[in-house]
Amino acid sequence: MRVYSVVIPVYNEEEVIEESYKRLTAAMQDMDGSYELIFVNDGSRDATASIIADILKKDSNVRLINFARNFGHMPAITAGMRYAKGEAIIIIDADLQDPPEALPAMAALWRKGNDVVYGKRKERLGETRFKRLSASLFYRFINSMVNIDLPVDTGEFRLMDRKVCDAVNELDEKNRYIRGLVSWVGFKQVAYEYTRVERFAGTTKYPLKKMISFAMDAITAFSYKPLKLATTLGFCISFFSFIYLLVILWQVFFTDTTITGWASTVAIILFTQGIVLMILGLMGEYIGRIFEEMKNRPSYIVMEAMGFEDDKNI
Ligand code: UDP
Ligand code: MG
Repeated sequence: MRVYSVVIPVYNEEEVIEESYKRLTAAMQDMDGSYELIFVNDGSRDATASIIADILKKDSNVRLINFARNFGHMPAITAGMRYAKGEAIIIIDADLQDPPEALPAMAALWRKGNDVVYGKRKERLGETRFKRLSASLFYRFINSMVNIDLPVDTGEFRLMDRKVCDAVNELDEKNRYIRGLVSWVGFKQVAYEYTRVERFAGTTKYPLKKMISFAMDAITAFSYKPLKLATTLGFCISFFSFIYLLVILWQVFFTDTTITGWASTVAIILFTQGIVLMILGLMGEYIGRIFEEMKNRPSYIVMEAMGFEDDKNI
C-alpha cells in the first residue's frame, strides 16, 4: 500500500497529460512516502487513454481507470477516491492550474494532524474576467444558500486523510458535489493558500452550460433554502395583492375614479405568472434530482481499471 494516492480526473487532456505526469512525479518524489497516481479517464475522445496506458507500462506508480463514457468531473473524482488505497488522498486537476509543487507543504500540514488540507485560491491567473467573476459570485451565492459552512474560493484541489476519504466514500448519494461532501463530513480542516495559474494547454472542459448545472447540483444537494425563499416570496406577493385589493375596493365604493387599469392588470398577471412558473421550475430541479437518486443508478461505469494489480513493491 502506498502512502499517497493522487486522483487526477482527465477528459480530453492529450495536450497536457505528459507534462502533468512529469510535474506530478517530480513533486511526489519530493514527498516523504511512496505514492500512486490514479488517472481517471472520463470517456475522453482523444488520445488521453493511450498516452496514459503507455506511461503505465513504464511506471508502476501509475494507474488508469477508463470510464465507459463521459460521466463528469465529480463522478471521476468519486471513482478515484474509491480506488485509492493510500493513507492520504490528493485530488488535483490534470491541467496544472493547481501546482503539484504545493503538495509537499500540504502534506506537511497533514503530518501535523490536520485531516483535510484544502487549496484556497488567493489569486487566479490567466482566466477570463467572466470566469473569475462568475466563480467568485458562485462561491458567495452558494454559501448564502447552503446550511453548512463551505470554504470560499476553494475547488477540488485538496489532500485528505484516509478516514475522511472513507467517510465521503460511505455517502451513497449520486449527485456528488465533492468539496461540499468533504466539508460536510467535518474533521479537522485547514486552508492552504495558493495561486491558481493558467491552464498548461488546451481549453476548459467547463463551458457555461456545465457551470450552471454544476451550480444547481451544488445548491440542491446542500439546501432547500430556494424552496423556502419561494414560499416567502409567495407570501409577500399575496400580502401586497391583498392591500392593493383593499385600495381598489375603496376606490370603487368611495371615489369617482374610473378604473382604467388594463395595462396594470396585464402587467400584474404576467409578473405573477412568471414567478409561479419560476417556482415550478425550481421545484422541478429538486424533483428531477429526487428522481435521479431514486433510480439509484451508479454515477459512473468503469470500463477497465489498469495498474491496480501491481501494488506489491511496497
Ligand atoms: N474533467 C473531467 N470530466 C469532465 C470535465 C472535466 O474529468 O466532464 C476534468 C478535466 O480534465 C480537468 C478537471 O476535470 O482535469 C477540471 O476541468 P477544467 O480544467 O476544464 O475546469 P476549469 O479549471 O476550467 O474549471
Ligand atoms: Mg482547469
